[in-house]
Amino acid sequence: MDRRNFLSTALGAVTATACSTTQASEPAARKLPFIGVQIHPFSFYDEGIERVLDLLQETASINALFVYSHLYASDQQMPAEVLAHDHPGFTPIDPKLRRYRRVWARHVPGEFDGQLLRHAIDAADVEFAGKDLFAELAPQCHKRGMKLLGRILEPRGRHGAELIQNFSQVLTVSLDGKPGTNACWNNPDYRSFWQVTVADTFRQNPLEGFMLGAERTGPLYRLIQAGESPSCFCRHCQLRMKDREISERRLRTGYAAINEWIQAMRRGASRPADGALVTFLRLLMRHPEVLAWEREWALSLEESLGALVRSIKSVKPAALVGRHIDHQQSSWDIFYRAAVSYSEMAESMNFLKPVVYHDIAAPRVNRWMLAEFSKSILSDLSQTQSLDLYYAVFGLDPQQEPAFQEMLSGSFSPDYVYRETKRCVDSVGGRTLVYPGIGFDIPFHRPNAPPLAHPSQPDVLAAAATKAFEAGAEGIVVCREYQEMRLPNLRAIGRAVRDLPTSGSKSR
Ligand SMILES: [Zn+2]
Repeated sequence: MDRRNFLSTALGAVTATACSTTQASEPAARKLPFIGVQIHPFSFYDEGIERVLDLLQETASINALFVYSHLYASDQQMPAEVLAHDHPGFTPIDPKLRRYRRVWARHVPGEFDGQLLRHAIDAADVEFAGKDLFAELAPQCHKRGMKLLGRILEPRGRHGAELIQNFSQVLTVSLDGKPGTNACWNNPDYRSFWQVTVADTFRQNPLEGFMLGAERTGPLYRLIQAGESPSCFCRHCQLRMKDREISERRLRTGYAAINEWIQAMRRGASRPADGALVTFLRLLMRHPEVLAWEREWALSLEESLGALVRSIKSVKPAALVGRHIDHQQSSWDIFYRAAVSYSEMAESMNFLKPVVYHDIAAPRVNRWMLAEFSKSILSDLSQTQSLDLYYAVFGLDPQQEPAFQEMLSGSFSPDYVYRETKRCVDSVGGRTLVYPGIGFDIPFHRPNAPPLAHPSQPDVLAAAATKAFEAGAEGIVVCREYQEMRLPNLRAIGRAVRDLPTSGSKSR
């Protein structure tokens, strides 16, 4: 099926699902757009499956669930205080005290024969061991006209080592020869492990779709943003360099020169005679392999995710499969934005979910980008000037967005959601569905400190959701996790959906 045919089929399926929902309860009701929600599997047993589904449908008009088939991205350092405390009949449990079950999808063990990597086997006494969540959820979703989709986020660092057997054998190799914290997507064992995982997940579990996620940025950005030694020089990446005619020797020389300069700047070296940005540009001109590899690195992820889509489709051709585009990738990593366009991401996906979390964008851009970039390539600018530059270069309206001093406790505006969604919609040109991630009540993750609550305002949130549709989105995904979402904000989503002027399923 070509993409245009797929698009109309997928839209038809979403619309039909929404129709059956509305027909069951209110025969004359209009069609609903796709309104998905991200939710941890344990939330269903914490609060009760039927209760959660009814609450999501009644408050936020949710008609699609994204549930982790493999819970590899939970943060056990999250204080219970930052989770929602107003879900009826449930008091949040301190994550540090929980023993999370990680593998929630049913698998046939033989499917992993011959694989280097395996999912670690959950201990027999983890929470909700033995529950067949997807089998329990499917009829309840069907009854309510809700689509049931799985999701994954790849693990990294200590998590990866704990959750995936032999993870240490597929790690990236950095310039200094040390193993990195991520697995390498150019490693065929890592790719095939996930291909087998998603295919078997669809064979054994009643899922209608899936969202793939890999939250990672490129080596040049990581060097500037975190001072991390560039990667990857594993033998599979060496082969890729050779195949793409990127000289490994010159790449290493370039990384070494840029690394030395960035590290010196991050330690407080004085201003170079020609200024920081010119010096950086000079290094890139002398070592263009660094830019070439930044793009190859991003392309290897796209290829890997595309292969996962094909694995799922080989089992279930009609599955709705899309890609989570994390906040750095969507909103402030300028190298990623240049390396791979939304149009290229759309090649293999049925939908894209760019993260456009307007509230938490403000402190994230402040601490994760401006503060870090000011240590090296933007050190000639004050952070206020850097923010002006960021707004201009990334196409945001400084009149709508927070001033520098307001960022840590502030929020980006619904206009940011509009502009970022429209950028995606325009870029994909109708070849795939766009479901931006609308985030709220997301805690702010700080280095060496527990996450801090960053509560959202219902009226601003409702406006943000409305703006996503005005920008041409076919649906939205309510983020980040159900356990964080306060009821007034879930209701704000429902209000925005009800107040949409026409059906969210657009005719373009
Ligand atoms: Zn590699």
